[in-house]
Amino acid sequence: MKTVHTATELRETLDALTAQHDLSIGFVPTMGALHEGHLSLIHAARQAHELVVLSIFVNPKQFEDGGDFSSYPRDEARDLELARGAGVDVVFMPDASEMYPPGFTTSVQLGPELTSVLEGAVRGSEHFSGMATVVCKLLLAVRPAAAYFGEKDFQQLVVVRRVARDLGLPVRIIGCPTLREADGLALSSRNVRLTTDERRRAAAIPRALTGAAAAVRQGETDVTVLRSRALQVLDEAGLDCEYLAFVNPDTLEAVTSIAAPTVCAVAVSTASTRLIDNQLLTPPVFEGSTDVC
Ligand code: AMP
Repeated sequence: MKTVHTATELRETLDALTAQHDLSIGFVPTMGALHEGHLSLIHAARQAHELVVLSIFVNPKQFEDGGDFSSYPRDEARDLELARGAGVDVVFMPDASEMYPPGFTTSVQLGPELTSVLEGAVRGSEHFSGMATVVCKLLLAVRPAAAYFGEKDFQQLVVVRRVARDLGLPVRIIGCPTLREADGLALSSRNVRLTTDERRRAAAIPRALTGAAAAVRQGETDVTVLRSRALQVLDEAGLDCEYLAFVNPDTLEAVTSIAAPTVCAVAVSTASTRLIDNQLLTPPVFEGSTDVC
């Protein structure tokens, strides 16, 4: 495994590796603090491509809160060990001045439809502009055949898919299922910040989501009913819900009735961190007809 820090070194390395044969590159962008969820994306890329590139970059432009950025967990040595064990070929670890040299002024902006709702409503649309800008820059540097993203950050996946489509980026965007702890809590780099009590109560998030999914499977279609039941589960666990929304998986438009596969997206905040999660709700007639990864 080779670790590089500049886009020039990255290009030289990838050009040398692909000089003899036209090898296909699978790319996994991350902010580090790797966990099994990240590794599942690497495994998916490993299965489909001859070369796997991982990027580790805590992107300042997608943090609206400086405290969250500076306290974001970082562990370079451990990340590199996990990446090597998962079969990564090249790790790209730029620093902020490499990605945003003096005079950097360009950004990728999306319309409000996808970026003013859910996370955008809480974090501001600059969050998605910052994310989309860095993803485009990384894709241009790596030039992969496919890039792998987790469904855990569902809105991010929708936004990246739309950017790739709108700009005609020559890359396939692959969504991969969310990896979870035994009690259902979605793996996240931010989970390390939870206190023991918060960690225990956080299990109510997947409980609320799976409860909604089960109700929909049994024929419940009324979002008001689903919403109040899910909120009750979060409330009983003492979790402060930022939003609980039922949205169209492609357009992120809110729905009032579950007539087609719908994503239930949730964000809660605890004293120490924010947690987001989501679940696809599939009405009985659509069972077995949805694609993942
Ligand atoms: P991050 O380092 O948090 O920016 O995440 C990097 C990538 O890993 C993103 O595409 C995330 O959606 C994905 N990811 C994060 N948590 C999980 C998880 N629990 N399961 C699967 N993918 C995940």
